[in-house]
Amino acid sequence: MILSKGLKASSPLTTAQIEKRLNDVGVSATAQRIAICKYILCEADHPTAEDIKNWTDLNFPKLSRATVYNTLEILVQAGLLKELKLPHTGKIVYDTNVEEHFHFLDSATGKLFDVSPEECQVTLAMPKDISVQGVEVFLRGKISIK
Ligand SMILES: [Zn+2]
Repeated sequence: MILSKGLKASSPLTTAQIEKRLNDVGVSATAQRIAICKYILCEADHPTAEDIKNWTDLNFPKLSRATVYNTLEILVQAGLLKELKLPHTGKIVYDTNVEEHFHFLDSATGKLFDVSPEECQVTLAMPKDISVQGVEVFLRGKISIK
């Protein structure tokens, strides 16, 4: 199994690319919004809203909590971010990998890794009258370093 550290663009998105992605979904690309997007889409890895607020507090101290949360909501609605509720804590994290994928939590470090569905076979034995429309897998364990 290959664990990837969240799916990031192969090279960090430029300001122009972020601006275009926001404009494509009809969102005005303000400097603040671009900065938050840059952090979330290029630097952070499955951050919580609080992680993002802490980052903005350091970098844009005047930015309100409401602006941060509104921006997150816009990015989710625009399909650039997905909300992920961690089953073991109920905590919500934001995921820039909007493709279908599973997660592996390293219980030693608390680090969350993306797992491609091809790397994790799920076999279902459901009654014929049930049509499964989605599968979410959340794995927990330890990575042994050899
Ligand atoms: Zn993920």
